[in-house]
Amino acid sequence: MKLSYQSTRGGESGLTASQAILKGLADDGGLFMPTQIPKLEASIEELAGMTYQETAYQVMKLFLTDFTEEELRFCINHAYDEKFDTEEIVPLVKADGAYYLELFHGSTIAFKDMALSILPYLMTTSAKKNHVENEIVILTATSGDTGKAAMAGFADVPGTRIIVFYPKGGVSRVQELQMVTQKGDNTAVVAIHGNFDDAQTGVKKIFGDKAFGEKLAAKGFQLSSANSINIGRLVPQVVYYVYAYAKLVKNGEIKNGDLINITVPTGNFGNILAAYFAKQMGIPVKTLICASNDNKVLYDFFQTGTYDKKREFILTSSPSMDILISSNLERLIYLSTGCDAGADRALMEALGSRGDYTVTEQMKAVMKDFVGGFATEEENWAEIRKVYEDTGYVIDTHTGVASAVYRAYRERTGDNTPTVIASTASPYKFSHSVMKAIRGADSAEDEFASIDELCRTSGVKIPAAVEEIRNAPVRHNRECDAADMEKTVGEILGL
Ligand SMILES: *Cc1c(COP(=O)(O)O)cnc(C)c1O
Repeated sequence: MKLSYQSTRGGESGLTASQAILKGLADDGGLFMPTQIPKLEASIEELAGMTYQETAYQVMKLFLTDFTEEELRFCINHAYDEKFDTEEIVPLVKADGAYYLELFHGSTIAFKDMALSILPYLMTTSAKKNHVENEIVILTATSGDTGKAAMAGFADVPGTRIIVFYPKGGVSRVQELQMVTQKGDNTAVVAIHGNFDDAQTGVKKIFGDKAFGEKLAAKGFQLSSANSINIGRLVPQVVYYVYAYAKLVKNGEIKNGDLINITVPTGNFGNILAAYFAKQMGIPVKTLICASNDNKVLYDFFQTGTYDKKREFILTSSPSMDILISSNLERLIYLSTGCDAGADRALMEALGSRGDYTVTEQMKAVMKDFVGGFATEEENWAEIRKVYEDTGYVIDTHTGVASAVYRAYRERTGDNTPTVIASTASPYKFSHSVMKAIRGADSAEDEFASIDELCRTSGVKIPAAVEEIRNAPVRHNRECDAADMEKTVGEILGL
């Protein structure tokens, strides 16, 4: 059967990959899903001999079935090039009994670069394929890393504009500086008075407002999304899990066919869902360990089967995981209903109106590959310090959460399956928190003093992305209330 894309809520079906990428979110508020998750065609032995770019082609061609080989290779080769500071693209570092898959070697030093360095190419190729004449306006809510990575990808790309909303006071100093100093005539950054969920809900609302969409169309604009709800974000993320498994085999760390576990520091559930897709494609994965910080809505969900967002939103030192509405979980919910769009829609409506939903035992059984865990702030800091003291390796505050959750999981279960931990950000992005963890005490130093101290402590060169913002001028200072996001988009586009 030929693969196509359909909404998890049943309102749309039969879209090509390029149409799904262009739309981002379905009109009925659902997320696009492929009609099936394809099986890998290349064997692990073959994959073990491939570069990252070749692996990307092998994985992505199975999902993006209306892209020609030439189109897809063009996108891949322009995305995974010298923007990455290592030829390997995603180095796998063995430390303290686990394999840290470093996903932060792209231009904004967080894992969002893995998908967002290719999304602009996928999007502009999709626009060409579908004869889109409108200017594409990318609307993005960010918990800190997506915004910068999306702007880095879309800045000055002809035929596109990008508007980013971030929670004022809810991101790290480096994250904020990276965004407000962004260059590019087609970029706009807005700090909202609210948290990430407010920003994400606001963006989804704008997408759902038909009248506003018509107003935009009349001016030659059409909206799309760079958030991880876009299938064009999810597919490129499957690649590095396939690559990591093949690499472990190639390096003789495991034998072909051996099971691995994967631990992912989770927020919107995109990254870990990509790991689940890799498993469905044929990578031997035993357990997917979903690591949360104090905003442990997913831990509670996997424990109880009830997703309950009615709780206090806690600001932590892993801000990119400070999320109570994990949008991509909807894709797993949809799969666990046996692709019953009506059942999925009912649960999502309950989440919207009542603030919670509960899945059936049968659905829970489908999700048995997932185990939830969470780490408190203290546990996270202790983990960062421990890994540093044991091995000299410095991890960031998001990877720290995953590492702490994995350690507790291994101690609790005795499961010694080789485990890959998704390392989602460079410690330089969160220098102040990382140095506080290693030192065991806070200091009043400014961010750049912490950065210099981290350099002395870790011996790792300060990335260009950090040096760049040391003295860069602020170009964006717009703020708005969460309720005024649509109006602000109108102002930016001159409606
Ligand atoms: C976005 C992000 C996460 C969470 O990833 P999801 O795909 O939203 O679950 C974790 N760590 C870092 C550093 C991030 O930027």
